[in-house]
Amino acid sequence: MGDPVPPPRALVAVLGGGQLGRMLGLAGIPLGLRFRFLDPSAGAPAAAVGHLVVGRFDDPAALEELAAAANIVTYEWEGVPAATAHHLATRVPVYPSARSLAVSQDRLAEKELCRSLSIPTAPFVAVEHDRVADELARVGAPAILKTRSGGYDGKGQVRISSVAGAADAGTALAGQGPLLLEAEVDFVRELSVLACRGHDGEVVVYPVVVNEHAGGILRRSRPGVVADDVEAAASAIAGRLVEALDHVGVMCVELFETRAGELLVNELAPRVHNSGHWTIEGAATSQFEQHLRAILGLPLGDTRLVAPCAMVNCVATLPDRAAILRVPGARLHDYEKAPRAGRKVGHVTIVAPDHDTLDARLARVDAAMRARPPLAVS
Ligand code: AMP
Repeated sequence: MGDPVPPPRALVAVLGGGQLGRMLGLAGIPLGLRFRFLDPSAGAPAAAVGHLVVGRFDDPAALEELAAAANIVTYEWEGVPAATAHHLATRVPVYPSARSLAVSQDRLAEKELCRSLSIPTAPFVAVEHDRVADELARVGAPAILKTRSGGYDGKGQVRISSVAGAADAGTALAGQGPLLLEAEVDFVRELSVLACRGHDGEVVVYPVVVNEHAGGILRRSRPGVVADDVEAAASAIAGRLVEALDHVGVMCVELFETRAGELLVNELAPRVHNSGHWTIEGAATSQFEQHLRAILGLPLGDTRLVAPCAMVNCVATLPDRAAILRVPGARLHDYEKAPRAGRKVGHVTIVAPDHDTLDARLARVDAAMRARPPLAVS
């Protein structure tokens, strides 16, 4: 609040130059925005849509180059060091704020925020690596031991099926910083919901998404298929979280839906999110444009689903381009990343006039994905 609305040709500086940065740029260019990115990798995908500064997130010279003449700073990755965000905030407005960043960098802080708001999560306890067996009774087995920060796509996590495995799990994550032990949730589905809050406190929420993972990596997201009561409950949770954090910009809340129909918060991402990529073709306003509108103090856009749609990640390699483009309503997003096991190198969004047609188109996209060339062994 209080920051002047940046001018029409504002320069947006983005910490991180991955595919999320690239899609922010693709959404912002039609609005007349310019982009500069900071990323440690010289081949970062966002280089296609703005100037890429290659450097570490804690390199003062690289930060100087990123922030010079920038009107606003945002980030596409919550691993940005807090000190970097604070340093930049002394000279350029940084959104989302340092508080959103700090909370979402720490799984314990996320869960404590939820607890303070009476928003359910899996039972959890902070634990030292050599005390896991002693603490297991507090959450019950099976449980999941997680690093409090730095984990993503299932990394930094060990499942504990019984007390016998607890000590080994602690040893496996020893030296990876503070840990969190949480009960394994017997969920029926994983959901996510994107909320966006503007400087003036206006909050908009996107339709809830059902997510399917494999090997800890998101494979498929589909909005608009949950019951109205689940939709309302998830939206309310996301709205309360962005308000509690005074968040400005998009935030993603990942949820477990239990057999009993309860929604438990798993984690927060203070940024545009993979499970929201469908919004580019499937929503009236994409999550990327929405985030830019919010941080720049522009009016927020309509979040409505415009047609049944789904998003499929391309993990490790891209499918044959022509095979995807032959599917009506399918759009390929190639991040221009080198193929690598477990790496998200692109995604496909499919829209259709109805859910049956969408299912048929999804089956064709899945077949194209299965037929892709095997990953070359380097
Ligand atoms: P996360 O890094 O916390 O998003 O976890 C990655 C994936 O691990 C989630 O998408 C779930 O499939 C699974 N997972 C994480 N925490 C739990 C939990 N407490 N109970 C059951 N599954 C979990």
